[in-house]
Order: sequence, then structure tokens, then C-alpha cells
Amino acid sequence: MINEIVVISGKGGTGKTSLTASIIPFFEDLVIADCDVDAPDLNILIKGEIVKERDFIGFQRPVIDYEKCTYCGLCHTSCNFNAISDDIIINNSACEGCKVCEYVCPEGAITMHDSVIGKIYHRKTIFGPMIDARLIPGEESSGKLVAEVRKLARDIAYKENRKMIIIDGSPGIACNVISAITGVSKAIIVTEPTISGLHDLKKVVHLVKMFSVEAKVIINKYDLSLNKAKEIKEYLELMEIEVVLELPFDVEVVNSISNLQIPSTTNIEFFSSKKWFDFIEYLRN
Ligand code: SF4
Ligand code: SF4
Repeated sequence: MINEIVVISGKGGTGKTSLTASIIPFFEDLVIADCDVDAPDLNILIKGEIVKERDFIGFQRPVIDYEKCTYCGLCHTSCNFNAISDDIIINNSACEGCKVCEYVCPEGAITMHDSVIGKIYHRKTIFGPMIDARLIPGEESSGKLVAEVRKLARDIAYKENRKMIIIDGSPGIACNVISAITGVSKAIIVTEPTISGLHDLKKVVHLVKMFSVEAKVIINKYDLSLNKAKEIKEYLELMEIEVVLELPFDVEVVNSISNLQIPSTTNIEFFSSKKWFDFIEYLRN
């Protein structure tokens, strides 16, 4: 069985991606999956080389043949997503590809066509193969693209007999996050000791509980507000979720990221501490 570990956060800017990158060098036999398809920046630190890329067809969208259209307005009134204006122009960003307009059009003027919503990349890295993807700005269905990234990562893991997949998930609680956590072995939630950190942590904890995912929390830069860190720990105790790590703020982490280096591969003390190695052991088993 493949050990799939996802790193998520309720909000952006908690250090999720730099922590994901810091975990990666401690494992062999792994596949890396960047499922943060809106902002896939794990590769900035991992520095993988593209070996293959392809378009991702998210769904089909309607195209109107105006030679056949009689402007009866039926498609406009039938679209539940208000994606067709009263002068019969399709708004692609509102369209959900449900095909109702094609079905109702009495003139056969509407046909559905493949729509590219993003790009998928296969990379070679010094840590193992990596799959990442980028959603075209303004496109939706990022959940589908995340599902595809995870499927490709699993295919590689099975084919190359790799035992582990490390997933960098998206921040937030939208469908792309649900897609990234579904069926994983463990979720690591990264938070920070701020008001918004706690607020968004609550939402993501609710999500992992709802999907019955085994989850533990890392409080990053915990010493920037000991009071808020305490509040986070009290909340997590109530929710019966363990704080697996508390990382202190370290300017060397910031420097390593600015220099495009994975923090755990520099000589930052924390990453050679017992606490860190216990955490790595937890992920391994
Ligand atoms: S339903 Fe068909 S014919 Fe009527 S307005 Fe829409 S595209 Fe034109
Ligand atoms: S496919 Fe569905 S959502 Fe898109 S324009 Fe047609 S009716 Fe509206």
C-alpha cells in the first residue's frame, strides 16, 4: 500500500510549501505531487526538470453556430448558471459544462467542445519523479485537475514500486483541497499563531473531520505569539487533534527560501533535532 501524505493549510502564507519541501529530502522511493494547482510553487525549491507536459481537458463547453441560431432565447432561460446572456453570448467562466443548452436548443445550433483548463507537468527531480499542474487563470474545476495530478502520481508509484507520495495541497477548504485529502493516509495541517491562522485552521479541521482523515498539526513560527499558539493548542485538544510539531521563527528559514534553498537542506538547527526526526518517523510509518 502506498503511504500518501498531504500537507495542507487553512490559509496561504503559513509556510506549507516550504515545510512540504523540507520533508521531501528525508524519504527515498517517493513521488512528489504538487496539488496547489492555482499557485504551484513547490518546484521553485525542488527544481525539477520537465520531462513531459500536456494540456488538461477539464470538461466540454458549448459553442453556438450563429448561422443556425434563431435567437429564441431558450438556452438563455434554461441555463442555471446564467452563463448565456439575453443576446445569446456564452460566458465561458460561468459555464459549468452541464450540456442543458445543447439539449434544449430546438435548432441544433449548440455543440459541446473540449475545453483546456490547465497544463500538467511530469518532472525529474533529485528526490524522485514529480507531477505538478497549473490551472489557467480564471478557470474553475481545479478539483478535477488535482484528482488527475494524484492519479498520475499513483500510477508512477505503482509502476516504479515507490512506497510514498508527498502531496503539497492547496490552501483553503475548496473542492481542490477536498480532492487533495480524499483517501490519503495522513494529513499534516500547517498553521501559524495569528487570528486568521486560528480562524482558518478551524475550517480545515472541520474538513478533515468530515472526511475522517487522520490529521496532525504543525504550528509554524509558534513563538511569534505564544498566547495565540496556546489558544490554538487548546482548541486542538478539544478537537482531539495532536500538535505534532511547533517550529520557532528562524530568520535562516526565510533566508534559505529567498536563496531558493530547501530549509531542511541547510544547516538550520531545528531540522537535525530529535523533534524533527520523530516527526519524519511518524510520516514514514
Ligand atoms: S436555444 Fe438555440 S436557437 Fe435558441 S437562442 Fe439558444 S442557440 Fe439560438
Ligand atoms: S453547458 Fe450548462 S452551464 Fe454551460 S452554458 Fe450551457 S446550460 Fe449553461
